[in-house]
Amino acid sequence: MTDAAVSSGPGLLERLAAGPVICAEGYLFEIERRGYLSAGAYVPEAVLDHPEVVAQLHRDFLYAGSDVMLAFTYYAHREKLRVIGKEDTLEEMNRTALRLAREAAAGSDALVAGNVSNSNIYVEGDAESAREVRAMFDEQVEWAVDEGVDYIVAETISFVGEALLALEAIKAADQTAVINLAVHRDPHTRDGLSLAEAAKRLEDAGADVVGLNCARGPASMLPLLGPIREAVSCHVAALPVAYRTTADQPTFQSLEDPDCACLPREKPFPTALDPFTVNRYEIEEFTKEAQALGVNYLGVCCGTSPHHIRSMAEALGRRPPGSKYSPDMSTHAFYGTSDKVPSVYKDFAKNL
Ligand SMILES: [Zn+2]
Repeated sequence: MTDAAVSSGPGLLERLAAGPVICAEGYLFEIERRGYLSAGAYVPEAVLDHPEVVAQLHRDFLYAGSDVMLAFTYYAHREKLRVIGKEDTLEEMNRTALRLAREAAAGSDALVAGNVSNSNIYVEGDAESAREVRAMFDEQVEWAVDEGVDYIVAETISFVGEALLALEAIKAADQTAVINLAVHRDPHTRDGLSLAEAAKRLEDAGADVVGLNCARGPASMLPLLGPIREAVSCHVAALPVAYRTTADQPTFQSLEDPDCACLPREKPFPTALDPFTVNRYEIEEFTKEAQALGVNYLGVCCGTSPHHIRSMAEALGRRPPGSKYSPDMSTHAFYGTSDKVPSVYKDFAKNL
C-alpha cells in the first residue's frame, strides 16, 4: 500500500444512497481525438507517453462535474499489451494511470476508481480462458487496491460469465464493485441472458452497482434500463456513448453514414463518428430520464467531452466549477438580448 490515502469523504455507496453520482468515462476516444492515442489497438499508451494529457483530461472532467476520477486502465490489460508486444509495460502503465487519477482527485472530494474491462479472450464454457481472464483481473485489481482506490469498476463486458469473473476478483480484494455490461445489437448478453436476468445474477453474486456502459447511445440505452432497475435492489448504472444511436442502429459500431463517400471503412466507427455526436441538451435529457427511472450512477462513455459531463451535472441541479462558463447567449454579438448589443446587429441576426 502506498502512503496516499483513499478519499476521506463518504464512499461510493454512501453517496449513491444520498443521490446520483457522476463518473465521466470515454478517456480513450477523447485522447484519440486529441491526438495522443491510436485508434485500432486502443491501448492507453498515453498514460506513459503523455501523462500530462491524461492528467489534463482528468482535471477537465473534474472541473465539469465528475464525482469520480476513473483510472485510465481500460485495455491496459495483459492481453492487449501482449497483442501490441509491450507486456513489459503492463504494471507501470496500470500504476501510473492509477496515480494520475489519484493526483487529479487530490484536494477535491472526488472518488478514485480502479478499472478493469473486457478481456477479449473470454470464451464461454472454456475453463482455461476463464482462468486466464481471472488472472488478468486479479493483477489489475491488486494494483488498483495497492494504489489506494475507493472502488473498482468492471466495464464494457458483454458476457455475464466474464463479468462474474471480474466481480469475483474485485470482491476477493474486498472492494466495492460496479459492474457494467456492454450490450450489442441483440439486447441480451453474449451468453444469452436477458439484461434483467444478468443484472440479478450479478447482484446475487455481490455486485454493489450493476448497469450498462458503452456501445449504445442515450436513445438506445434508455429503453434497456427499466427492466434492469426492476430486477435488482442495488444501485443501477447507465453510461451511454455520446452518439445518436437509433432503434435500427442501436450501437455506435452499427451506425451508418450514407451521406459520406470518403469513409475508410464501410461504417463510420470508430474514427468518423463526429456527425453523430450527441449535443449537451441530449445528455441533459438522458440524465433526467435515467434519473426518473431510478438510475443513479450516471456518466457518459466513448465520444464524450467535458461539456457533456457539465450538462449532466447541471441536469442534476448542480453547479460544478465549470458552470462558470456555461452558455450565456445574452451578450452574443447578433443573438444577444442585452442592451449593450447594438440593435443593428440584432436586426442582422436573421441574415446569419
Ligand atoms: Zn465506451
